[in-house]
Amino acid sequence: MGEPYDLLLRSGTIVDPANGLHGVHDIAIRGDKIVDVAPTIYGAARREHDLTGRVVMPGIVDMHVHLSPFLGGGCGHRMLAMAGVTTALDMAGPIEGVVDLAARYGCGLSVACVNYLRPEHTIASAAPGRDDIDDALSHALSLGAIGLKLLGGHYPLTAEATAHAIEAAAGRGAYVAFHAGTQSAGSNIEGMREACELSAGHPLHLAHINSYCRGQILDAVAEGEKALSLLAAHPHIRSESYLAPFNGISGECIDGIPGSRLAVFGLERGGYPATVDGMADAIRAGWALVNLECEGVVELVGGAEGLAAWRACGSNIGISFRANPPEPRLRLVTATRADGRYAVDALATDGGGIPRNDIVSRGLALVHLDALSLDGFVRKASLHPARILGLTHKGHLGIGADADITVLDLELRRPVLSYAHGQRLLDGEDVVGRGGRLITTPTGEAAVRAAGLDTLVVQPGTMLKTPQ
Ligand SMILES: [Zn+2]
Repeated sequence: MGEPYDLLLRSGTIVDPANGLHGVHDIAIRGDKIVDVAPTIYGAARREHDLTGRVVMPGIVDMHVHLSPFLGGGCGHRMLAMAGVTTALDMAGPIEGVVDLAARYGCGLSVACVNYLRPEHTIASAAPGRDDIDDALSHALSLGAIGLKLLGGHYPLTAEATAHAIEAAAGRGAYVAFHAGTQSAGSNIEGMREACELSAGHPLHLAHINSYCRGQILDAVAEGEKALSLLAAHPHIRSESYLAPFNGISGECIDGIPGSRLAVFGLERGGYPATVDGMADAIRAGWALVNLECEGVVELVGGAEGLAAWRACGSNIGISFRANPPEPRLRLVTATRADGRYAVDALATDGGGIPRNDIVSRGLALVHLDALSLDGFVRKASLHPARILGLTHKGHLGIGADADITVLDLELRRPVLSYAHGQRLLDGEDVVGRGGRLITTPTGEAAVRAAGLDTLVVQPGTMLKTPQ
């Protein structure tokens, strides 16, 4: 008898499209790696799980989440672990806050971060020059970020500066993600068209495609089709969309009026006046839901309880409206290109600290409806985002891969067990993972280590490639 394995996952239905595997197999793990996958593995292990009747997939990679002090705080790690996620990309930063929260609240996930370019925070103005952008990028990389986030929907830069930022990231082989919108185009289907143009053939992650298809300019279904034709015409652009009906914005009212343009839009869509009283009525009626922290997770709460929480914070708390119409949401997840690849590369959530970590719950609903195959689900929820992040050892279950595994109950559409780097994260309903690691580039390794976190290093130039 050889050395016992650290872990044996027995008799689960393995779904691993990268290795062409879909069937009942055992998986053996030593340390943080998969060391064998076979119909039957003989030998002993320190821990075994009988996964008969369960689906075993490579760990879920959510390439759009929020794990910053501004959005969800430390709760996001726990919420992601509960949702079966093992790797995530924070889509705003600030990188210092993301590193600090990961060190304090980590549940064993691997987390990457793109740092925002926000006027008066990380950059002087909304029209920064090339040198300012280069400096902001160098600073972000040195602190551990893998690149930049352009927050056009919230803090739009000029179109020129936006194009420069995308070009600067390409020049360094860094990651760049864009919530479409500039000072010349809104965060809508017109902003998405402009974003495609501004990328000028450089690699780009265009965020939450569904959010440009809310019926602001055309009919929502027509906007969905327009978005698909833009992605087909710009194959260098990587993208994700999410399935939740809810957005996540600020509920703050200043001088009696909602501060966020999206809050005004949300109130008007529900037939409420865009005033502090209109907001109170919308929360009371459950049209607007307050993002309320309770027992270590954030939940959507309306009615009297939501209203009391919103008032207790002097209105300065996150809220969510049903902003995303269903038809484009469903279409963007299932649509394919002429060559058979998915039109939108990944299924993400824009969740983390925002309570919509629904890759499993809503994604498997599409599998249940036969709108998405189980292999397609695994491609969009793990393989593609892993490839886009340059993580060659994630997104599949081959020998030598990182031992990142999510186990699903298909009937209940729930994750029931997960491992990341051989460490247990989720067991039943209990989050048991601790610590974790930051995905960073060689430039950021020292800063991340100094903060007490492990690192997983990706090489510049390996990210934002077309996933096969
Ligand atoms: Zn986001």
